[in-house]
Amino acid sequence: MLKIKQSAIRKGIINFLNNQQKAIDGLAGYEDRVRLSKMLWQNKKKSNARKSVFKGIEKELQKIAVGSNSYCNYCEANIGSNIEHIYPRGLYPSKTFDWDNFLWACNQCNGRHKVAQFQIFQSPQSSQVINLVKDYSFTPPLNDDAVFINPRYDNPMDYLKLNLETAVFEIIADDVHSREYIRSDYTLSILKLNLRKGLLHDRKMAIEKYKKLFISYLSANYSSSFSALHHCIGQMNYTVGNLSFEEEKMKFCLFIKNEILTGNHLTVWKEMQKQSYENSFFNDLFSKHPPALKW
Ligand SMILES: [Zn+2]
Repeated sequence: MLKIKQSAIRKGIINFLNNQQKAIDGLAGYEDRVRLSKMLWQNKKKSNARKSVFKGIEKELQKIAVGSNSYCNYCEANIGSNIEHIYPRGLYPSKTFDWDNFLWACNQCNGRHKVAQFQIFQSPQSSQVINLVKDYSFTPPLNDDAVFINPRYDNPMDYLKLNLETAVFEIIADDVHSREYIRSDYTLSILKLNLRKGLLHDRKMAIEKYKKLFISYLSANYSSSFSALHHCIGQMNYTVGNLSFEEEKMKFCLFIKNEILTGNHLTVWKEMQKQSYENSFFNDLFSKHPPALKW
């Protein structure tokens, strides 16, 4: 999981979202706000005009999702398909049309795992958590001090470290009573990032994929003949053009860089960069081409 990139969205979209939100926020009672939030969200595509605005919103969210196929921002494995509210709208009607509360997610992460589960801390310094339940008792949450790591504001990589051998996310904080530990543990367990067998397998494959791609990049970058370059290209889905050796080499290296930055599980690549400072295998790879540390 990565921190979501900031993006500039069209004024028209922001105005639309603000107007919808204003209608909800204008109601005095919490229960009324929850009900209107539900109604407006359910009807969000009920006219052609609304449909078109939401198409625009989805497009913007896809742009800041993972990879060129707009993978889910949570699992990075499945192609995203819907707008997820990081703070569930059934609990936080004030965040129903809040752009910063939107995230591009897959059905599995949003619909099966996270759903409307949400915990908050009792008070700013406390590690005590409150489990919020959408139980139609219509009690407004005490605060919005979320336990769930919010990739819009937090950098998940500050909390979770991906083990590049096992593909398991490990909690960075040591103290099990610390807020950092509790947040990491809760986020992992809600999204089941370590428990979904298919997902774990997929992440393992991604680790191998990124290693292989980067090694190919390095070999190509250091190649000095067409035959060496063709050896790097091997079975890859890359079309050799009618170019000079240097041009072909540059084109192929750009192709690999693009494959790395637009694939699924981008966290794997980011962890390879981060861990190169402590892992001799990755240190060795990146020392051959330090600019890749900033890709
Ligand atoms: Zn997902």
